[in-house]
Amino acid sequence: MKRDQEIFDLIEKEHQRQLKGMELIASENFVSDEVMEAMGSYLTNKYAEGYPGKRYYGGCGVVDQVEQLAIDRVKQLFGAEYANVQPHSGAQANAAVLLTVLKPGDTFMGLNLDHGGHLSHGSAVNTSGILYNAIGYNLDKNTGRVDYDEMEALAVKHNPKLIIGGGSAYSREWDYKRMREIADKTGALLMIDMAHPAGLIAAGLLDNPVKYAHIVTSTTHKTLRGPRGGIILMGKDFENPWGLKTPKGVVKMMSQLLNSAVFPGTQGGPLEHVIAAKAVAFGEALKPEFKEWATQVKKNAKVLADELTKRGFTIVSGGTDNHSMLVDLRSKYPELTGKVAENALVAADITVNKNMVPFDTRSAFQTSGIRLGTPAMTTRGAKEDMMILIAELIEEVLNDPENENVIAKVRAKVNETMKNYPLFAY
Ligand code: PLP
Repeated sequence: MKRDQEIFDLIEKEHQRQLKGMELIASENFVSDEVMEAMGSYLTNKYAEGYPGKRYYGGCGVVDQVEQLAIDRVKQLFGAEYANVQPHSGAQANAAVLLTVLKPGDTFMGLNLDHGGHLSHGSAVNTSGILYNAIGYNLDKNTGRVDYDEMEALAVKHNPKLIIGGGSAYSREWDYKRMREIADKTGALLMIDMAHPAGLIAAGLLDNPVKYAHIVTSTTHKTLRGPRGGIILMGKDFENPWGLKTPKGVVKMMSQLLNSAVFPGTQGGPLEHVIAAKAVAFGEALKPEFKEWATQVKKNAKVLADELTKRGFTIVSGGTDNHSMLVDLRSKYPELTGKVAENALVAADITVNKNMVPFDTRSAFQTSGIRLGTPAMTTRGAKEDMMILIAELIEEVLNDPENENVIAKVRAKVNETMKNYPLFAY
């Protein structure tokens, strides 16, 4: 068969783009060769509807072992009692949880999208906001941190069946204990979506929500450094999170309900090649080198936030406890939108994304902020000195975002610097 050069040329073009640029999108990372190899493997040819040992297709003996390994490793990694590794993405994992614990029209709570929440936590344009009654909680205007008092007052007022914690642009540790207290007080279940900090949690550098929440979801491709995908976990509450006092056998175990919500509830056949790659990534995350990497991710984020602050940028909440930060551009550049900033930086081969900041006066298409993160650059081997350089280059571009000479000069510096950093250094 003739090679499809058109598509492979494009794949190589993207490879070159990744190699020569500085990647600061907080939700991105670079996977190891072994994760990549598992993803592009023969397992993609296999149908395996069902779960290990209980499939609707023949010939699943090998993929059963692959999936079981992924399940066992992720349970070990997070100290979980239950794991489902089949969700095709983080949004799919969340949709399956909502399908399990809510009926259409039921009330649940999540962090508002423009305060750092995720689309799948109740946005009006997502099934979570279309099918269910979503109540958003917010950050405190003064501290830039989650307002747990408001969360509690809203929970008392609206009586949600589920409270969701976790977000996409929140640089601070979550108070899972307080959230569980609020959930228990109001009779809600607690779900934590740890998609962003999962790798730092796996490395023991942030508190582990599996200890507090009834259900935990995550993506596998952000700080967890695996293939694109999702997972669902449960800790000690996994059999009967509602604490129902019913005769044995009447309570259908939560694990069965969640499994049914993933397949056949929201998905068909699992992606066993991706599940194999998840298993490889979980195996990597169990090694001591991963902790070293995650420690560096956190150190780098702190240095980057401090350097930007020194240069007059405002970091929402005043800093970061994890891998990410939200930069409010308004204090330094009142006229500059996130959109213009993103375009100028991307033209200089520094990849970031525009992001709304809490209480933003601009729309989601313009925004007043950009979101930055250090996982991808850390995977390439970047240390604190590189963070100082990045802050300097960001300022140089944003001081004059329409100046093509400045952009070309910064781009040359970025490309020259990145020649010395492989895609995967760990
Ligand atoms: N949950 C959170 C907190 C996220 O930040 C994201 C993605 O950015 C998702 C879920 C969705 O993941 P996916 O893009 O894999 O559907």
